[in-house]
Amino acid sequence: MTQCPCDGPVELRSLLPEQLAELMLQMGEPAYRAKQIFSWCAKGVTSIDDMNNLPKDLRERLKQNCLLTAPVILRRQQSKKDGTIKYLFGLHDGNAVESVLMHYEHGTSLCISSQVGCRMGCSFCASTIGGLVRNLSAGELLDQVIFASRDSGKRIDSLVLMGIGEPLDNYDNVVHFFRLLNHEQGVRLGLRHVSISTCGLVPGIDRLSKEGLPVTLSISLHAPNNALRSAMMPVNYRYPIEQLMAAARRYAAATGRKIYIEYTMISGKNDSPAQAKELAGLLQGMLCHVNLIPLNPVAGKQDVSSQRAAIERFSGVLKRCGVTSTVRRRLGDDIDAACGQLRRSNMEEQRS
Ligand code: SAH
Repeated sequence: MTQCPCDGPVELRSLLPEQLAELMLQMGEPAYRAKQIFSWCAKGVTSIDDMNNLPKDLRERLKQNCLLTAPVILRRQQSKKDGTIKYLFGLHDGNAVESVLMHYEHGTSLCISSQVGCRMGCSFCASTIGGLVRNLSAGELLDQVIFASRDSGKRIDSLVLMGIGEPLDNYDNVVHFFRLLNHEQGVRLGLRHVSISTCGLVPGIDRLSKEGLPVTLSISLHAPNNALRSAMMPVNYRYPIEQLMAAARRYAAATGRKIYIEYTMISGKNDSPAQAKELAGLLQGMLCHVNLIPLNPVAGKQDVSSQRAAIERFSGVLKRCGVTSTVRRRLGDDIDAACGQLRRSNMEEQRS
């Protein structure tokens, strides 16, 4: 079993069929039970009792020794403008995380959280206020996909790890989740339709490039030089831009996949034409595309989004320098859709 006993009870939805087979062996059960359990988990049963093709005695023993995580929807907000749905999922230990379901022309996309809280400390982000509480397990990552899909009645066509948390700070569970997600007897979401977004943990990027998984890498850059980036994102002191860009280039070379550069536009801070030129300089010759994201205002923070005209001007400079970019639509901005905001507002309400 990969899970160490100090991690608490074995979480059934975190296990691959071969790991469940090992568990069945330990419990003196035939191996074929593993496939049955895996299939129930992927179908989204919320109780071990519902696995009705397992003998009652096995169900009892599973209940005693294992945990079947099944989040509850604490809040569900739907945008009147574009149908985006934001879920606040309550976890078995009283914590909560957010997932956001978005409708695009090419299908339904889900944005999931990778941790409860975050310890990266980016100045403009709501997820990091209050720090990291804990990692999500692989099963809890999968739960978000299963239960958002079930509630909305939509098949999830693509997935982004851009919610609360830093996915490469929860590396093992995230990569194990990719294997669960892609499994032929499971949810079967192709990893070509999965993107992982990082604030720039260089060793994690290099490790991921060697996993042989065709996931798309997004890098949250947000600033074109070290002085500004370190002021906005403390992770930059540890892994400065030169190291980060070199890792991005290695990822593109190893996987053949285009890198997405996320750049949140903050008025008067990182949105000048000179900064666009500096950014283009960093990206010369790299297989990449820039997403320009208007800042979502966060309660209690001073920063405001760049005006539309400044964003267009920035994008124009990038274009003239040979760098392609898209201005992200602000989906769900009437429902606190910026990551971490719903969890924060829920915590504040509970406190008052
Ligand atoms: N930790 C990962 C993934 C979570 S954040 C990362 O840093 O990439 C997902 C994206 O939302 C990141 O690009 C992040 O910088 C951005 N973001 C955070 N707060 C934001 C805000 N208030 N407005 C717009 N984008 C924001």
